[in-house]
Amino acid sequence: MENRKEEKITLLPRRLFLRLAALALAAVLALGLTACDSNGGHIVKPSTGASQPFEMHFIDVGQALSVLVECDGQFMLYDGGNVDDGSLVVSYLQKQGVEQLQYVFCSHAHEDHVGGLAAVMAKFPAGHAYSPVTESSTKCFNDFVKYTRQQGLQLEVPSVGTVWPLGNATVTMLGPVTQYSETNNTSLVLRIDYGNTSFLLTGDMENTAETDLVNSGANLKADVLQVGHHGSSTSTGYLFLNAVLPEMGVISCGTGNKYGHPHEETLSILRDAKVDVYRTDLQGTITIGSDGQNFTVGTEHFVPDSQLNPTDPSSSSTAQQAYIGNVNSKKFHLPTCANLPAEKNQVPFSSYDEAIAAGYTPCASCIK
Ligand SMILES: [Zn+2]
Ligand SMILES: [Zn+2]
Repeated sequence: MENRKEEKITLLPRRLFLRLAALALAAVLALGLTACDSNGGHIVKPSTGASQPFEMHFIDVGQALSVLVECDGQFMLYDGGNVDDGSLVVSYLQKQGVEQLQYVFCSHAHEDHVGGLAAVMAKFPAGHAYSPVTESSTKCFNDFVKYTRQQGLQLEVPSVGTVWPLGNATVTMLGPVTQYSETNNTSLVLRIDYGNTSFLLTGDMENTAETDLVNSGANLKADVLQVGHHGSSTSTGYLFLNAVLPEMGVISCGTGNKYGHPHEETLSILRDAKVDVYRTDLQGTITIGSDGQNFTVGTEHFVPDSQLNPTDPSSSSTAQQAYIGNVNSKKFHLPTCANLPAEKNQVPFSSYDEAIAAGYTPCASCIK
């Protein structure tokens, strides 16, 4: 928490600016631009610094995506990062006080989204688990299915229009509106409304599905947009962005990633649309809070307690650890094993299943 920064976002001037800009454009083009909201804008109140009743956490999982949503003490998770991020996501959820998840969503069957979900399902009881497909050939997807089944759950494919409550927030499934062969376009698109504030999760949806979604007439106007596909230029087209007209955009991507995400074209279109951009590669984990009217934004470079001080017996994750993994060899050991790695290379697991789900294999000498 020591690296956390709080920043108050004042929305009203931007709202007015956007409305005036839209009206001016409408006058010039003689087009009725209706994308601007008509709720009168958000009332800005002084920040108390306390945690908000609604929070969306973009967990820094590098070149991947994992979003934890909390409302009135209920939680849902949208993606879990790569397989290697499993233990980090689990410890982040524990730190947020998660004991169970109402819903777990796999946006689509790529490893950088589904990978960490096996570790999550091995650790936290879930109400429902959703995915655009129930089968995929990859090991990481099959592990997600395996740990979902171990809870006695079946993976469900939700349909457009489904509405779920999360505390006093509502989650609405907007897309995909048709079937796609390109996996990114199968991404589950979720709209989340809390009071007068709104959020849009898009996974890795690309231009084709964005256009279909706009044409479907779905209510896309949202204050906060998870910028699609890690900021790739294959997503966030003008048509789509004009339908969403967000105040804030969050890009989840890894420092120096090999794809060059986020692409300059995407950053440029977001700049032109006056969107405030937050990036996990630059700012770490990004938490957007809402009281239903106003937003707060916090950034934090999250380090699990065990990595801060693995020898501290008061650290809860150390005290509870049943196994110790070696981040280099990807083997895990009993704490009593003679072949434990150096402390800086240790990662704790609270169960055998958690270690397996994170992609670790048991040490042959200490685990029979
Ligand atoms: Zn991705
Ligand atoms: Zn993808």
